Amino acid sequence: MFVLAKGGEPLMPCHPARARELLDNGRAVVARRAPFTIRLKHRTRAGSTVEGVQLRLDPGSKATGIAITDELHRIGPKGETAVARRGLITIELRHRGQQIHAGMMRRAGYRRRRRSANLRYRARRHDNRSRPDGWLPPSLRHRIDSTMSLVVRLSRYAPVAEIHVEQVAFDTTAFAGVASSGTQGTLESTHAGSEIREFLLAKWNRSCVYCDATGVPLNIEHVRPRSRGGSDRVTNLVLSCVPCNQAKGTTRIEEFLSDRPDRLESVITQLRSPLQDVAAMNATRLQLVEVLATHGVPVRAWSGGRTCWNRFAMGLPKSHTLDALSTGVIDHERGDTIVRVPAQILVVASTGRGSYARTTPDRFGFPRLQRPRGKVHHGYSTGDLVAAVVPRGKWVGNWVGRIAVRTSGQHRITTLTSRFDVSHRNLRLLQRADGYAYGFAEEIRLNEQRGAAYSGRTLKGGDPGNV
Ligand SMILES: [Zn+2]
Repeated sequence: MFVLAKGGEPLMPCHPARARELLDNGRAVVARRAPFTIRLKHRTRAGSTVEGVQLRLDPGSKATGIAITDELHRIGPKGETAVARRGLITIELRHRGQQIHAGMMRRAGYRRRRRSANLRYRARRHDNRSRPDGWLPPSLRHRIDSTMSLVVRLSRYAPVAEIHVEQVAFDTTAFAGVASSGTQGTLESTHAGSEIREFLLAKWNRSCVYCDATGVPLNIEHVRPRSRGGSDRVTNLVLSCVPCNQAKGTTRIEEFLSDRPDRLESVITQLRSPLQDVAAMNATRLQLVEVLATHGVPVRAWSGGRTCWNRFAMGLPKSHTLDALSTGVIDHERGDTIVRVPAQILVVASTGRGSYARTTPDRFGFPRLQRPRGKVHHGYSTGDLVAAVVPRGKWVGNWVGRIAVRTSGQHRITTLTSRFDVSHRNLRLLQRADGYAYGFAEEIRLNEQRGAAYSGRTLKGGDPGNV
Protein backbone atom coordinates (compact mmCIF):
# COMPACT_ATOMS: atom_id res chain seq x y z
CA MET A 1 0.00 0.00 0.00
CA PHE A 2 1.26 3.45 -0.85
CA VAL A 3 1.89 5.78 2.09
CA LEU A 4 2.07 9.57 2.09
CA ALA A 5 3.48 11.83 4.79
CA LYS A 6 1.44 14.55 6.54
CA GLY A 7 2.39 17.04 3.81
CA GLY A 8 1.55 14.62 0.98
CA GLU A 9 5.15 13.58 0.14
CA PRO A 10 5.66 9.87 -0.64
CA LEU A 11 7.03 7.55 2.07
CA MET A 12 8.10 3.91 1.76
CA PRO A 13 5.13 1.64 0.89
CA CYS A 14 3.78 -0.57 3.69
CA HIS A 15 2.10 -3.96 4.02
CA PRO A 16 -1.72 -3.95 3.65
CA ALA A 17 -2.11 -5.25 7.23
CA ARG A 18 -0.07 -2.34 8.55
CA ALA A 19 -2.18 0.11 6.53
CA ARG A 20 -5.36 -1.39 8.02
CA GLU A 21 -3.93 -1.03 11.53
CA LEU A 22 -3.01 2.63 10.96
CA LEU A 23 -6.48 3.38 9.58
CA ASP A 24 -8.21 1.59 12.47
CA ASN A 25 -6.10 3.51 15.03
CA GLY A 26 -7.08 6.77 13.40
CA ARG A 27 -3.43 7.59 12.63
CA ALA A 28 -4.00 7.67 8.88
CA VAL A 29 -6.69 8.57 6.38
CA VAL A 30 -7.46 7.20 2.94
CA ALA A 31 -5.87 9.59 0.43
CA ARG A 32 -6.84 7.68 -2.70
CA ARG A 33 -8.91 4.61 -3.44
CA ALA A 34 -7.11 3.32 -6.50
CA PRO A 35 -4.23 2.74 -6.32
CA PHE A 36 -4.93 2.48 -2.58
CA THR A 37 -2.96 5.20 -0.77
CA ILE A 38 -3.07 6.33 2.83
CA ARG A 39 -1.84 9.58 4.34
CA LEU A 40 -0.35 9.60 7.84
CA LYS A 41 -1.82 12.31 10.04
CA HIS A 42 1.22 13.11 12.19
CA ARG A 43 4.36 11.83 10.43
CA THR A 44 6.34 14.26 8.27
CA ARG A 45 8.75 13.33 5.49
CA ALA A 46 11.64 14.97 7.40
CA GLY A 47 10.90 12.78 10.43
CA SER A 48 10.96 9.51 8.45
CA THR A 49 13.67 7.37 6.91
CA VAL A 50 13.06 7.08 3.17
CA GLU A 51 15.57 4.84 1.39
CA GLY A 52 13.77 5.07 -1.92
CA VAL A 53 12.36 2.34 -4.13
CA GLN A 54 13.21 1.04 -7.60
CA LEU A 55 10.66 1.03 -10.37
CA ARG A 56 11.18 -1.92 -12.73
CA LEU A 57 9.44 -2.09 -16.09
CA ASP A 58 8.92 -4.88 -18.60
CA PRO A 59 7.29 -3.25 -21.65
CA GLY A 60 5.09 -5.52 -23.76
CA SER A 61 2.71 -5.01 -26.63
CA LYS A 62 -0.55 -5.71 -24.79
CA ALA A 63 0.56 -5.08 -21.23
CA THR A 64 3.53 -3.64 -19.37
CA GLY A 65 4.66 -5.23 -16.13
CA ILE A 66 5.74 -2.87 -13.36
CA ALA A 67 7.34 -3.85 -10.07
CA ILE A 68 8.15 -1.55 -7.17
CA THR A 69 11.03 -3.02 -5.19
CA ASP A 70 13.39 -2.17 -2.39
CA GLU A 71 16.75 -3.73 -1.61
CA LEU A 72 18.10 -5.19 1.60
CA HIS A 73 21.86 -5.63 1.94
CA ARG A 74 23.00 -8.81 3.66
CA ILE A 75 26.21 -10.73 4.12
CA GLY A 76 26.20 -13.41 1.42
CA PRO A 77 27.61 -16.97 1.55
CA LYS A 78 31.08 -15.78 0.46
CA GLY A 79 31.29 -13.01 3.03
CA GLU A 80 30.46 -10.28 0.51
CA THR A 81 27.48 -7.99 0.70
CA ALA A 82 24.61 -9.52 -1.25
CA VAL A 83 21.42 -7.80 -2.27
CA ALA A 84 18.01 -9.22 -1.41
CA ARG A 85 15.41 -7.68 -3.68
CA ARG A 86 11.90 -7.40 -2.24
CA GLY A 87 8.89 -6.97 -4.50
CA LEU A 88 6.64 -4.49 -2.68
CA ILE A 89 3.91 -3.82 -5.24
CA THR A 90 3.41 -5.30 -8.71
CA ILE A 91 1.27 -3.68 -11.38
CA GLU A 92 0.10 -4.83 -14.79
CA LEU A 93 -0.63 -1.87 -17.07
CA ARG A 94 -2.93 -3.00 -19.88
CA HIS A 95 -2.65 -1.00 -23.08
CA ARG A 96 -5.43 -0.22 -25.54
CA GLY A 97 -3.40 -0.25 -28.75
CA GLN A 98 -5.93 -2.57 -30.39
CA GLN A 99 -8.86 -0.21 -29.72
CA ILE A 100 -6.84 2.77 -30.94
CA HIS A 101 -5.90 0.91 -34.10
CA ALA A 102 -9.53 -0.07 -34.71
CA GLY A 103 -10.62 3.55 -34.11
CA MET A 104 -8.08 4.88 -36.62
CA MET A 105 -9.20 2.35 -39.23
CA ARG A 106 -12.83 3.30 -38.64
CA ARG A 107 -12.04 6.98 -39.10
CA ALA A 108 -10.07 6.24 -42.28
CA GLY A 109 -13.12 4.37 -43.57
CA TYR A 110 -15.42 7.37 -42.99
CA ARG A 111 -12.96 9.69 -44.70
CA ARG A 112 -12.59 7.37 -47.65
CA ARG A 113 -16.36 7.23 -48.06
CA ARG A 114 -16.70 11.03 -47.83
CA ARG A 115 -13.94 11.49 -50.36
CA SER A 116 -15.52 9.17 -52.92
CA ALA A 117 -19.12 10.25 -52.22
CA ASN A 118 -18.79 14.05 -51.91
CA LEU A 119 -15.44 15.14 -53.35
CA ARG A 120 -14.80 12.83 -56.23
CA TYR A 121 -14.21 15.65 -58.74
CA ARG A 122 -11.76 17.54 -56.56
CA ALA A 123 -8.17 17.40 -57.82
CA ARG A 124 -5.77 15.33 -55.83
CA ARG A 125 -3.66 17.22 -53.32
CA HIS A 126 0.06 17.06 -53.97
CA ASP A 127 1.61 14.41 -51.75
CA ASN A 128 3.83 16.74 -49.77
CA ARG A 129 3.09 15.55 -46.31
CA SER A 130 5.87 14.12 -44.18
CA ARG A 131 6.17 12.72 -40.70
CA PRO A 132 8.46 14.12 -38.05
CA ASP A 133 11.48 12.17 -36.84
CA GLY A 134 10.65 9.52 -34.29
CA TRP A 135 7.01 9.38 -35.39
CA LEU A 136 5.20 6.28 -34.22
CA PRO A 137 1.71 5.06 -35.13
CA PRO A 138 -0.83 6.24 -32.51
CA SER A 139 -1.33 2.73 -31.17
CA LEU A 140 2.40 2.45 -30.40
CA ARG A 141 2.70 6.07 -29.25
CA HIS A 142 -0.02 5.30 -26.71
CA ARG A 143 2.11 2.51 -25.23
CA ILE A 144 4.91 4.96 -24.45
CA ASP A 145 2.59 7.75 -23.29
CA SER A 146 0.50 5.62 -20.95
CA THR A 147 3.59 3.97 -19.45
CA MET A 148 5.22 7.35 -18.84
CA SER A 149 1.97 8.73 -17.40
CA LEU A 150 1.75 5.86 -14.91
CA VAL A 151 5.42 6.26 -13.95
CA VAL A 152 4.79 9.94 -13.17
CA ARG A 153 1.72 9.04 -11.12
CA LEU A 154 3.49 6.32 -9.17
CA SER A 155 6.30 8.77 -8.36
CA ARG A 156 3.69 10.82 -6.51
CA TYR A 157 2.79 7.88 -4.27
CA ALA A 158 6.18 6.18 -3.80
CA PRO A 159 9.72 7.59 -3.40
CA VAL A 160 11.08 6.36 -6.74
CA ALA A 161 14.90 6.62 -6.68
CA GLU A 162 15.77 4.78 -9.88
CA ILE A 163 14.05 3.23 -12.88
CA HIS A 164 15.14 -0.05 -14.45
CA VAL A 165 13.62 -0.86 -17.81
CA GLU A 166 13.94 -3.77 -20.16
CA GLN A 167 15.04 -1.82 -23.20
CA VAL A 168 15.63 -4.30 -25.97
CA ALA A 169 14.16 -7.71 -26.51
CA PHE A 170 17.59 -9.01 -27.46
CA ASP A 171 21.00 -7.66 -26.75
CA THR A 172 22.45 -8.28 -30.19
CA THR A 173 25.98 -7.58 -28.97
CA ALA A 174 25.68 -10.60 -26.68
CA PHE A 175 25.72 -12.99 -29.61
CA ALA A 176 27.81 -11.18 -32.16
CA GLY A 177 30.40 -13.93 -31.84
CA VAL A 178 30.33 -17.57 -30.89
CA ALA A 179 27.69 -18.11 -28.29
CA SER A 180 25.55 -21.17 -28.68
CA SER A 181 27.93 -23.73 -27.28
CA GLY A 182 26.54 -25.12 -24.09
CA THR A 183 25.05 -23.64 -20.99
CA GLN A 184 27.88 -24.58 -18.66
CA GLY A 185 30.41 -22.04 -17.56
CA THR A 186 30.30 -18.48 -16.39
CA LEU A 187 27.31 -16.23 -15.91
CA GLU A 188 28.09 -14.20 -18.99
CA SER A 189 28.29 -17.14 -21.39
CA THR A 190 25.11 -18.64 -19.92
CA HIS A 191 23.43 -15.28 -20.17
CA ALA A 192 24.41 -15.05 -23.85
CA GLY A 193 23.14 -18.60 -24.40
CA SER A 194 19.73 -17.81 -22.97
CA GLU A 195 19.63 -14.64 -25.06
CA ILE A 196 20.25 -16.72 -28.19
CA ARG A 197 17.48 -19.14 -27.28
CA GLU A 198 14.96 -16.36 -26.84
CA PHE A 199 16.11 -14.77 -30.08
CA LEU A 200 15.74 -18.00 -32.04
CA LEU A 201 12.31 -18.70 -30.53
CA ALA A 202 11.12 -15.26 -31.62
CA LYS A 203 12.77 -15.39 -35.02
CA TRP A 204 11.46 -18.83 -35.96
CA ASN A 205 8.05 -18.25 -34.45
CA ARG A 206 8.43 -20.94 -31.79
CA SER A 207 7.98 -23.70 -34.32
CA CYS A 208 10.03 -26.33 -36.17
CA VAL A 209 11.43 -24.88 -39.41
CA TYR A 210 11.03 -28.19 -41.25
CA CYS A 211 7.52 -29.32 -40.24
CA ASP A 212 6.02 -26.25 -38.46
CA ALA A 213 5.38 -28.26 -35.28
CA THR A 214 4.62 -26.03 -32.28
CA GLY A 215 4.25 -26.79 -28.59
CA VAL A 216 6.89 -29.53 -28.72
CA PRO A 217 10.45 -29.45 -27.38
CA LEU A 218 12.62 -27.69 -29.96
CA ASN A 219 16.31 -28.25 -30.53
CA ILE A 220 18.80 -25.70 -31.71
CA GLU A 221 19.85 -27.02 -35.09
CA HIS A 222 22.95 -26.19 -37.13
CA VAL A 223 21.91 -25.66 -40.76
CA ARG A 224 25.41 -26.47 -41.89
CA PRO A 225 26.37 -29.30 -39.54
CA ARG A 226 29.29 -28.71 -37.22
CA SER A 227 30.88 -31.91 -38.52
CA ARG A 228 30.97 -30.22 -41.93
CA GLY A 229 32.50 -27.04 -40.59
CA GLY A 230 29.29 -25.18 -39.69
CA SER A 231 29.72 -22.39 -37.16
CA ASP A 232 27.88 -21.50 -33.96
CA ARG A 233 26.80 -18.08 -35.25
CA VAL A 234 23.09 -17.22 -35.17
CA THR A 235 23.11 -17.06 -38.97
CA ASN A 236 23.71 -20.82 -38.95
CA LEU A 237 21.11 -21.70 -36.31
CA VAL A 238 17.45 -22.67 -36.64
CA LEU A 239 14.96 -24.50 -34.44
CA SER A 240 13.67 -27.97 -35.20
CA CYS A 241 11.61 -30.58 -33.42
CA VAL A 242 13.37 -33.70 -32.15
CA PRO A 243 12.18 -36.08 -34.96
CA CYS A 244 13.22 -33.59 -37.69
CA ASN A 245 16.52 -32.92 -35.95
CA GLN A 246 17.31 -36.64 -35.87
CA ALA A 247 16.10 -37.18 -39.42
CA LYS A 248 18.37 -34.44 -40.71
CA GLY A 249 21.38 -35.61 -38.72
CA THR A 250 24.54 -34.46 -40.43
CA THR A 251 23.10 -34.16 -43.95
CA ARG A 252 23.26 -30.81 -45.71
CA ILE A 253 20.06 -28.75 -45.76
CA GLU A 254 20.02 -28.78 -49.58
CA GLU A 255 19.91 -32.61 -49.52
CA PHE A 256 17.45 -32.81 -46.63
CA LEU A 257 14.97 -30.43 -48.32
CA SER A 258 15.74 -31.51 -51.91
CA ASP A 259 12.10 -32.54 -52.46
CA ARG A 260 10.74 -29.30 -50.94
CA PRO A 261 12.45 -26.40 -52.81
CA ASP A 262 9.91 -23.80 -51.53
CA ARG A 263 10.70 -24.63 -47.94
CA LEU A 264 14.44 -24.60 -48.62
CA GLU A 265 14.23 -21.14 -50.15
CA SER A 266 12.13 -19.68 -47.31
CA VAL A 267 14.48 -21.06 -44.66
CA ILE A 268 17.57 -19.71 -46.45
CA THR A 269 15.95 -16.26 -46.91
CA GLN A 270 14.87 -16.01 -43.28
CA LEU A 271 18.30 -17.18 -42.19
CA ARG A 272 20.02 -14.32 -44.01
CA SER A 273 17.85 -11.53 -42.56
CA PRO A 274 18.58 -12.12 -38.93
CA LEU A 275 18.23 -8.77 -37.23
CA GLN A 276 15.60 -6.70 -39.05
CA ASP A 277 12.61 -7.91 -37.03
CA VAL A 278 14.58 -7.33 -33.88
CA ALA A 279 15.21 -3.70 -34.84
CA ALA A 280 11.50 -3.10 -35.39
CA MET A 281 10.65 -4.81 -32.13
CA ASN A 282 13.22 -2.73 -30.28
CA ALA A 283 12.15 0.67 -31.74
CA THR A 284 9.32 1.36 -29.30
CA ARG A 285 11.37 0.29 -26.33
CA LEU A 286 14.26 2.56 -27.29
CA GLN A 287 11.89 5.53 -27.38
CA LEU A 288 10.40 4.55 -24.04
CA VAL A 289 13.83 4.75 -22.43
CA GLU A 290 14.41 8.19 -23.96
CA VAL A 291 11.10 9.45 -22.63
CA LEU A 292 11.67 7.97 -19.16
CA ALA A 293 15.05 9.71 -19.02
CA THR A 294 13.24 13.08 -18.94
CA HIS A 295 11.64 12.17 -15.61
CA GLY A 296 14.66 13.29 -13.58
CA VAL A 297 15.46 9.92 -11.99
CA PRO A 298 18.39 7.72 -13.11
CA VAL A 299 17.20 5.25 -15.76
CA ARG A 300 19.05 1.99 -16.41
CA ALA A 301 18.27 -0.12 -19.47
CA TRP A 302 18.68 -3.90 -19.65
CA SER A 303 18.19 -6.59 -22.25
CA GLY A 304 15.35 -9.10 -22.23
CA GLY A 305 17.74 -12.04 -22.19
CA ARG A 306 19.16 -10.91 -18.86
CA THR A 307 15.66 -10.63 -17.39
CA CYS A 308 14.84 -14.09 -18.67
CA TRP A 309 18.01 -15.52 -17.18
CA ASN A 310 17.37 -13.84 -13.80
CA ARG A 311 13.80 -15.07 -13.70
CA PHE A 312 14.87 -18.60 -14.59
CA ALA A 313 17.64 -18.62 -12.00
CA MET A 314 15.15 -17.49 -9.33
CA GLY A 315 12.73 -20.27 -10.38
CA LEU A 316 9.95 -17.84 -11.25
CA PRO A 317 7.37 -18.56 -13.98
CA LYS A 318 6.76 -16.15 -16.84
CA SER A 319 4.40 -13.22 -16.38
CA HIS A 320 4.70 -9.52 -17.11
CA THR A 321 5.00 -8.65 -13.45
CA LEU A 322 7.56 -11.36 -12.66
CA ASP A 323 9.61 -10.25 -15.68
CA ALA A 324 9.51 -6.70 -14.34
CA LEU A 325 10.60 -7.96 -10.92
CA SER A 326 13.57 -9.77 -12.52
CA THR A 327 14.77 -6.81 -14.58
CA GLY A 328 18.27 -5.52 -13.83
CA VAL A 329 21.35 -6.99 -12.21
CA ILE A 330 21.07 -10.00 -9.96
CA ASP A 331 24.59 -11.20 -9.27
CA HIS A 332 24.00 -14.90 -8.69
CA GLU A 333 27.61 -15.66 -7.80
CA ARG A 334 27.52 -13.07 -5.03
CA GLY A 335 24.30 -14.55 -3.66
CA ASP A 336 21.78 -11.89 -4.75
CA THR A 337 18.18 -13.06 -4.56
CA ILE A 338 14.57 -12.02 -4.94
CA VAL A 339 13.04 -12.63 -1.54
CA ARG A 340 9.47 -11.43 -1.85
CA VAL A 341 6.90 -11.70 -4.64
CA PRO A 342 3.50 -10.03 -4.06
CA ALA A 343 0.68 -12.56 -4.41
CA GLN A 344 -1.72 -10.00 -5.82
CA ILE A 345 -1.22 -7.81 -8.89
CA LEU A 346 -2.80 -4.39 -9.25
CA VAL A 347 -4.27 -4.36 -12.76
CA VAL A 348 -4.41 -0.90 -14.33
CA ALA A 349 -6.29 -0.94 -17.64
CA SER A 350 -6.20 2.06 -19.99
CA THR A 351 -9.78 3.00 -20.77
CA GLY A 352 -9.34 6.31 -22.55
CA ARG A 353 -11.42 9.36 -21.73
CA GLY A 354 -14.32 9.01 -24.11
CA SER A 355 -14.72 9.96 -27.73
CA TYR A 356 -14.95 13.15 -29.74
CA ALA A 357 -17.40 11.54 -32.15
CA ARG A 358 -20.81 13.25 -32.07
CA THR A 359 -22.81 10.45 -33.57
CA THR A 360 -22.85 6.72 -33.11
CA PRO A 361 -22.99 5.05 -36.51
CA ASP A 362 -24.68 1.80 -37.43
CA ARG A 363 -22.64 -0.91 -39.07
CA PHE A 364 -22.96 0.76 -42.49
CA GLY A 365 -21.57 4.05 -41.20
CA PHE A 366 -24.90 5.93 -41.15
CA PRO A 367 -25.73 7.97 -38.03
CA ARG A 368 -27.70 5.95 -35.54
CA LEU A 369 -27.90 8.30 -32.56
CA GLN A 370 -26.62 11.71 -31.50
CA ARG A 371 -24.34 11.97 -28.51
CA PRO A 372 -24.73 14.76 -25.96
CA ARG A 373 -22.24 17.62 -26.17
CA GLY A 374 -21.06 17.50 -22.55
CA LYS A 375 -19.44 14.69 -20.63
CA VAL A 376 -20.72 15.62 -17.15
CA HIS A 377 -24.32 14.75 -16.31
CA HIS A 378 -25.84 15.51 -12.90
CA GLY A 379 -22.35 15.97 -11.46
CA TYR A 380 -20.85 12.71 -12.69
CA SER A 381 -18.93 11.56 -15.75
CA THR A 382 -18.30 8.12 -17.17
CA GLY A 383 -15.57 6.24 -15.30
CA ASP A 384 -16.11 7.89 -11.91
CA LEU A 385 -15.73 5.61 -8.89
CA VAL A 386 -18.84 5.98 -6.72
CA ALA A 387 -20.58 4.58 -3.66
CA ALA A 388 -24.29 3.91 -4.21
CA VAL A 389 -26.99 3.53 -1.57
CA VAL A 390 -30.07 1.97 -3.12
CA PRO A 391 -33.10 2.43 -0.79
CA ARG A 392 -35.52 -0.09 -2.31
CA GLY A 393 -36.11 -2.50 -5.15
CA LYS A 394 -34.15 -5.46 -6.47
CA TRP A 395 -30.72 -3.85 -5.91
CA VAL A 396 -31.37 -2.53 -2.37
CA GLY A 397 -28.17 -2.03 -0.35
CA ASN A 398 -24.73 -0.38 -0.53
CA TRP A 399 -22.54 -0.72 -3.59
CA VAL A 400 -19.18 0.54 -4.87
CA GLY A 401 -18.35 0.66 -8.56
CA ARG A 402 -17.72 2.63 -11.72
CA ILE A 403 -20.48 4.41 -13.56
CA ALA A 404 -21.40 5.15 -17.15
CA VAL A 405 -23.47 8.32 -17.21
CA ARG A 406 -26.77 9.01 -18.98
CA THR A 407 -28.42 12.38 -19.63
CA SER A 408 -31.50 11.15 -17.74
CA GLY A 409 -29.51 10.89 -14.50
CA GLN A 410 -30.13 7.14 -14.29
CA HIS A 411 -26.46 6.19 -14.37
CA ARG A 412 -25.33 2.64 -14.98
CA ILE A 413 -23.10 1.29 -12.21
CA THR A 414 -20.77 -1.68 -12.65
CA THR A 415 -19.76 -3.34 -9.40
CA LEU A 416 -17.60 -6.42 -8.86
CA THR A 417 -20.58 -8.75 -9.21
CA SER A 418 -23.38 -6.87 -10.96
CA ARG A 419 -24.47 -4.07 -13.26
CA PHE A 420 -27.64 -2.01 -12.88
CA ASP A 421 -29.05 1.51 -13.17
CA VAL A 422 -29.11 3.85 -10.21
CA SER A 423 -30.26 7.46 -9.81
CA HIS A 424 -27.59 10.15 -9.45
CA ARG A 425 -29.35 11.17 -6.18
CA ASN A 426 -28.26 7.89 -4.57
CA LEU A 427 -24.59 8.25 -5.51
CA ARG A 428 -21.57 9.59 -3.63
CA LEU A 429 -18.34 10.35 -5.48
CA LEU A 430 -15.23 8.45 -4.29
CA GLN A 431 -12.76 9.25 -7.06
CA ARG A 432 -12.92 11.05 -10.39
CA ALA A 433 -12.29 9.15 -13.62
CA ASP A 434 -8.60 9.34 -14.57
CA GLY A 435 -8.51 7.33 -17.80
CA TYR A 436 -7.71 4.02 -16.10
CA ALA A 437 -9.78 1.19 -14.62
CA TYR A 438 -8.33 -0.56 -11.58
CA GLY A 439 -8.69 -4.15 -10.46
CA PHE A 440 -6.77 -7.04 -8.98
CA ALA A 441 -5.44 -10.34 -10.32
CA GLU A 442 -3.63 -13.23 -8.68
CA GLU A 443 0.03 -13.76 -9.52
CA ILE A 444 0.84 -17.07 -11.25
CA ARG A 445 1.44 -19.58 -8.51
CA LEU A 446 5.14 -19.82 -7.97
CA ASN A 447 5.58 -23.55 -7.51
CA GLU A 448 3.59 -24.55 -10.57
CA GLN A 449 6.39 -24.17 -13.08
CA ARG A 450 9.39 -24.30 -10.79
CA GLY A 451 12.12 -26.37 -12.40
CA ALA A 452 10.02 -27.05 -15.49
CA ALA A 453 11.95 -24.62 -17.68
CA TYR A 454 14.38 -25.74 -20.31
CA SER A 455 17.56 -27.62 -19.61
CA GLY A 456 20.55 -28.00 -21.85
CA ARG A 457 19.66 -27.23 -25.43
CA THR A 458 16.07 -28.46 -25.37
CA LEU A 459 13.53 -25.66 -25.41
CA LYS A 460 9.90 -25.42 -24.53
CA GLY A 461 8.25 -24.35 -27.75
CA GLY A 462 4.89 -23.45 -26.23
CA ASP A 463 6.12 -20.52 -24.18
CA PRO A 464 3.96 -17.62 -25.44
CA GLY A 465 6.48 -14.84 -24.80
CA ASN A 466 5.48 -11.25 -24.26
CA VAL A 467 7.25 -9.22 -26.91
ZN1 LIG B 1 9.87 -30.85 -37.29
